[in-house]
Amino acid sequence: MPQKDIILSLPGFTIKNVSGHNPIIIDVHYRNKPRCPACNGRNVRKKASFIRRVRHEPIGHRQTVLRFKAYKLYCHTCQRYFNQQFPGINKYQRATERLHNHLYHRHTEGVSQQSLARDFKMGKATIERWYHQQYVLAHKEIDVRHCPVYSDLIRPPIPVTLGHPF
Ligand SMILES: [Zn+2]
Repeated sequence: MPQKDIILSLPGFTIKNVSGHNPIIIDVHYRNKPRCPACNGRNVRKKASFIRRVRHEPIGHRQTVLRFKAYKLYCHTCQRYFNQQFPGINKYQRATERLHNHLYHRHTEGVSQQSLARDFKMGKATIERWYHQQYVLAHKEIDVRHCPVYSDLIRPPIPVTLGHPF
């Protein structure tokens, strides 16, 4: 990974250009060869291209948007068309997993959904939905890992509701 790309924390992407103030628009290029999202095969042909804009974690207090070219792919093995998928960005999402995670932690630390909605210029309902998704993920991880008794004792109690913890 070229050194300047470390700032992205998103494997496979290279920074091409940075512009704007808030949001900071980061033009990126995905270096890895496209694969079929169904069979993970490389026997794909690029069809039409389109530009994706995906929100990413902030730099300081400034919001960031990644802008990059994505392709419609034809997989010869599956004999179907797909939109190219990227690691760190879930299907149909307009924000990276890192931004979802960032908001989850900010909210868990006590920043209200209202403040987050204002700072990130998005609806409270969206924040609530993301928080819920991350909450489910985080607690799934706790359930599957093998906890010694000691960490059970120090683990904070699980809130009864999914709303704001404070
Ligand atoms: Zn395939």
